[in-house]
Amino acid sequence: MTLASASPPLSVRALALFGGTFDPVHRGHMAAARAARDRFGLDAVHFVVAGRPPHKSALPLSPYPHRCAMVALACAGQARLSLSLAEAGPDFSGSATSYSIELVRAHRKRLLRSTHLYFLVGADAFLEIGKWRESEALLDSCDFIVVSRPGFRLEPLRAAIPAGILADGCVVRRSSAGECLRLRSSTVYLMSSVHVDVSSTSIRSRVARGLSIRSLVPRAVEDYICKQALYR
Ligand code: ATP
Ligand code: MG
Repeated sequence: MTLASASPPLSVRALALFGGTFDPVHRGHMAAARAARDRFGLDAVHFVVAGRPPHKSALPLSPYPHRCAMVALACAGQARLSLSLAEAGPDFSGSATSYSIELVRAHRKRLLRSTHLYFLVGADAFLEIGKWRESEALLDSCDFIVVSRPGFRLEPLRAAIPAGILADGCVVRRSSAGECLRLRSSTVYLMSSVHVDVSSTSIRSRVARGLSIRSLVPRAVEDYICKQALYR
């Protein structure tokens, strides 16, 4: 973890961590980050490029520097969206297995006590939350923003939350930020306004078959994939 405790505090009022392999980053990721930024008045959305997430340990991943470069290109000129190297590791190789609970704990050490910390995640990923390392501690440690993703319904998300941490009588409620689920010490906000039917898997497959990805990734990312001959 490169977020050494000696680092200066992150003095933002509201920050969302958006983890993913981003292989490559695409318009669905950008739409999710912008929607969350605008709905929750976030000062920053950090795209935390995962070194090696446990659920993808057996899959081939593009080298960490390429995935970071594409996120940096996609975030350039996008207000309050930026690349985070928090999971780069001490040698910046991004080769270590990364866990969200460690990411959140490392941020808590650097953030002001008053900072509102969110974890931004798509509906497909949140459905697996019960399998994440220390999932109850993670759900206790910050609020979650769960964005809709075509093909995944938001209704079953409640069932994905370990029963022990659902607040008594926990039901979907309306809040000023939309629908939410109250947990024993945090809130899961459900954002149903994102409808971008694209995945990194489909992009890799299209490039391998020589098909266009123009409408699926930011232009600079498309150029980068072409120049670096990724996914061929
Ligand atoms: P892959 O197909 O390789 O798994 P992906 O498109 O799912 O890639 P990830 O890097 O796995 O992208 O996802 C990072 C985060 O972005 C996850 O929380 C995921 O749910 C979310 N996400 C990915 N694509 C979308 C999308 N089209 N709409 C909303 N959220 C998305
Ligand atoms: Mg995925």
